[in-house]
Amino acid sequence: MPTTQLVWFRSDLRAADNTALKRAVKQSKQDGSHLRAVYIATPAQWREHHMSAMRTSLIASAVTALNQDLAEMGVPLDVLVADKYSDAVQMLVSHCQQYQVSYIHANREYLVNEIARDYWLTQSGIQCRFYDDSLLMPPESLLSGQLKPYRVFTPFSKAWISAVRAQLPASSAELWEPPEFGTPIKASDIPDFAADLSTEMNKQLSLWPHSGETALDRLREFVDPENSSGVVFYHQQRDFPDLDATSRLSAALSLGLLSPRQCLHQLLQHYGADTWDKNSGAGCWLNELIWREFYQHIAFHFPRVVKGRAFKIETDQVPWLYDQQRLQAWKDGNTGFPIVDAAMRQLKQTGWMHNRLRMISAAFLTKDLHLDWRLGEQHFMENLIDGDFAANNGGWQWAASTGTDAAPYFRVFNPTTQSQRFDPKGQFIRRYVPELAELSDKQIHAPSACPNYPAPIVDHKQARLTAIDMFSRLANNH
Ligand code: FAD
Repeated sequence: MPTTQLVWFRSDLRAADNTALKRAVKQSKQDGSHLRAVYIATPAQWREHHMSAMRTSLIASAVTALNQDLAEMGVPLDVLVADKYSDAVQMLVSHCQQYQVSYIHANREYLVNEIARDYWLTQSGIQCRFYDDSLLMPPESLLSGQLKPYRVFTPFSKAWISAVRAQLPASSAELWEPPEFGTPIKASDIPDFAADLSTEMNKQLSLWPHSGETALDRLREFVDPENSSGVVFYHQQRDFPDLDATSRLSAALSLGLLSPRQCLHQLLQHYGADTWDKNSGAGCWLNELIWREFYQHIAFHFPRVVKGRAFKIETDQVPWLYDQQRLQAWKDGNTGFPIVDAAMRQLKQTGWMHNRLRMISAAFLTKDLHLDWRLGEQHFMENLIDGDFAANNGGWQWAASTGTDAAPYFRVFNPTTQSQRFDPKGQFIRRYVPELAELSDKQIHAPSACPNYPAPIVDHKQARLTAIDMFSRLANNH
């Protein structure tokens, strides 16, 4: 009786340019074995990790689209629902027995819980083949001259670029289409594990790419040299939240609807050598993709960050506050700092926040309100459609000066000057804080005594000094 190759999809929810799927197809063609695919939803584990309802629903849509794509290839997909990773492994073992699975093929995930889950699976006696797929440079492949992981972004990015240039992913033809396999079959019936969303949030959800195909469309549109809100002007426009000039591919990249190889190939195809130049739009966008890889490496090499610890160990001693009133005002967008409030309301209303605003609102929570960065990190995860542990933790620790940021802790963001610089006419603020819509371009950044709008909950100048003091005490103790 022929055995089965089983592809286990995790955060790689696409059929095109998927290493595990390609390798399983090849094996199956070589030895005549069957090919099946499986996805295991783990809602309780996701809740424990504070995954947002929008993201859960996006995953459900992506799995539905994947089911369709695999059916067109002639590959049946089984979707199982387990609560926790430990249950997932048990289920997978029984599934393998049922289908005489000879090999499980899966793309690696690099966080400790996922690594532990994969280890339990290998201990069950099932043969597993794990592939590097979600990063252009997997964590072990890029170490410093002393064979240590990089701790700072700039040297990491230089090493990353020279390594990637030296071994560019070869052919581009196979990046866009699923591998050829069999004749189409009827798509399997799969359970729906989408979360309950309000009508408004469902509307927001529908704006996001939810399949390999729609993510590729979005990538092509963003990289198109004719697109004036795309890559061409990215280096000039990306910091202005009102312009909508970033790719909005974060959710697609973190769920693996898109591969970073596909992104790099699109850049190279349209922009050639400019892709490696940080001062061009293409190079500046590539630099963000390198940040994505950097934080994955940090989470892999320094697993304490996955366990709630600071990257800079001494900063675990910072005496953060846990004031509920301050936290609630920040979450609700009622701090009296218009740019922060507009940012927080964007998150609440749309499930996404612009990168510049993530930096401003995270710096505000930690350096102005002196609240523990972990409270903000959790709130972001609970609301973001693109909530990704490594990027979110990296961003929060960067803002809190507990992470990899090379800048000193005494360089504190000023929310008002940030607002004047990156939303000069207050257009973004007007959109999300309508109470202030009638104010002048000058007044809108720091309104005084405005009806229906709160007074600032802290004095920035004083708060800045307190933050510096919290850190300098640590510095003196070490
Ligand atoms: P673009 O500007 O088009 O960038 C392209 C891609 O590069 C993004 O889609 C993303 O995959 C990656 N990227 C860009 N900036 C970063 C960065 N600083 N770190 C890591 N990857 C990056 N990104 C997430 O994907 N998930 C998160 O949960 C997340 N939380 C964040 C929390 C804080 C406090 C901060 C400061 C940043 C966070 N980021 C996170 C990074 C960044 O804000 C988002 O990736 C970006 O805003 C997504 O929009 P985009 O797809 O239009 O990005």
